[in-house]
Amino acid sequence: MMAKNKIQFQEGYSLFELFSDYGTDEQCRQALFKWKFPDGFVCPECGCKTHCTLENRNLYQCNHCHHQTSATCGTIFDSTKLALSKWFLAIHLMTQLKTAVSALELKRQLKVSYNTAWSMKQKIMQVMKERDDSKPLSGIIQIDDAYWGGEHRGGSRGRGSENKTPIVAAVSTNEDGHPIAMNLNVLSGFKSSEIKRWAQAHLVPGSTVYSDYSWQ
Ligand SMILES: [Zn+2]
Repeated sequence: MMAKNKIQFQEGYSLFELFSDYGTDEQCRQALFKWKFPDGFVCPECGCKTHCTLENRNLYQCNHCHHQTSATCGTIFDSTKLALSKWFLAIHLMTQLKTAVSALELKRQLKVSYNTAWSMKQKIMQVMKERDDSKPLSGIIQIDDAYWGGEHRGGSRGRGSENKTPIVAAVSTNEDGHPIAMNLNVLSGFKSSEIKRWAQAHLVPGSTVYSDYSWQ
């Protein structure tokens, strides 16, 4: 699964703070490392917790299986040629200002080409949208499970269907039953342990949940 970029500045975070916290590429890289490995390095391949750093290439190599990873891999900064500090500034401008920031304004503030500014803006907006999609639901929630993959020809229907992707759809509604927000997530199956794990990540505790399950 792709690691999500979790950069989120607190409300009221100033440009001054941004420059002192994330003014250099090294500061940005260390911040990304911490977001990616909050409890220290863990090899994504084998789970080993020790690594060495290949300094010049900003790569972390697992001491056990020699898998190499970086702070930016799996994020929108992956294989970027731009300074990370420019990305951080772009994210700050796009998330902290009250009005929408145009690609032209980004170009001016970041000293990059218009095309670069435009593509940065698209990538950042995509991440912001994904973050909204993954916000936990609260209030009144209706949950349904389903299989993704179209009509099943012959064979069995229902929860055991093969070659289909199990998904769970959760919709939060207002008191009149009108949908407010929705989460669609892929699960590895519909075992109650899996559903519980999903609910902990995607539903705010104390929500009123309607579903066929008795897992609460
Ligand atoms: Zn490893």
